[in-house]
Amino acid sequence: MSREPLFKISEAGLFCPRGAFYVDPWAPVATAVITHAHADHAVKGSRRYIAAEPGRLILWSRMGQHAKIEALPFGQSIDLNGVKVSLHPAGHILGSAQVRAEYKGEIWVISGDYKVAADATCAAFKPIRCHTFVTESTFAQPIFQWEPQEVTFAQIHDWWRDNQSQNKASFVFAYALGKAQRLLAGLDQSIGPVFAHRDIEAVNVLYRQSGVDLPPARIPNQGMTPAEWERSLILQTPSARWQQGFPHLGHFCNSFASGWMMLPDATHERRVHQGFPLSDHADHRELLGAVAATGAERVFVTHGYIDEFVTELKSLGYEAIAMRTPRCRRPPKVIIPPINV
Ligand SMILES: [Zn+2]
Repeated sequence: MSREPLFKISEAGLFCPRGAFYVDPWAPVATAVITHAHADHAVKGSRRYIAAEPGRLILWSRMGQHAKIEALPFGQSIDLNGVKVSLHPAGHILGSAQVRAEYKGEIWVISGDYKVAADATCAAFKPIRCHTFVTESTFAQPIFQWEPQEVTFAQIHDWWRDNQSQNKASFVFAYALGKAQRLLAGLDQSIGPVFAHRDIEAVNVLYRQSGVDLPPARIPNQGMTPAEWERSLILQTPSARWQQGFPHLGHFCNSFASGWMMLPDATHERRVHQGFPLSDHADHRELLGAVAATGAERVFVTHGYIDEFVTELKSLGYEAIAMRTPRCRRPPKVIIPPINV
């Protein structure tokens, strides 16, 4: 088989010459198939967007009201110049999709960002058989191994109760799109009142309008009392930090919910008291499992620990190739501290 590959990296992003469309282009193009609405995957200005139906409202809110978005239900295919394209759940955030493209029996799957763990706020990741798989590698290092999310939520709840016993508010920093909603859906609201920064609540509204059953969350500056402060859990965007958006009513503890909190020294670097390694990406084992489940012989690795994962996949017998793009930033070096015996 020596015909031209179905996809290649071009100036504007991952391009399918045969189908004349891009996947997650970083510049405006004629036809953009979008895996999900995070800013590093969806940019404004394309003439036509194709995305999964559950994420339509979110993408629309980010691409602008004049954006032309064709929403495709999961599993339904569309013909793009003879290439059969369909979208399948990636489990990352609401509406996140893997892109399956088939031409003359050759099948490619582009994963976008994905996670394997269950998430009450989006459809579960589904492995798709293919010949060539383009996988992300955000956490493709053995140090990244998530606990079952029940364990992580129990840790958050214990920490929250502990803070309450010291009359302290509990801040959890979380990305506004995806992570914050997953947290909100999983928190035990019987422990105390839950508040969300206004940027997070704006996304919550879109989730609710998209049919996700999210509990209510008040915006902190809307009449929070000192008594509520001491019992509250406040979801805050990392960029806003704790100072903004509400009155400062007393003592507090802060924390960060992210896979990066597995790194030694992460709480110090993020200037928080506590880290909760809750991630919207697959961990190292889950990435390996997801690659195996596709049955792919050829794997392109992008976004993350590219070189390390390519080396590992090669050692496992895959034809693994680095796919570097201008969006790929070198992730933090993983330094495992020596064990004190
Ligand atoms: Zn993402």
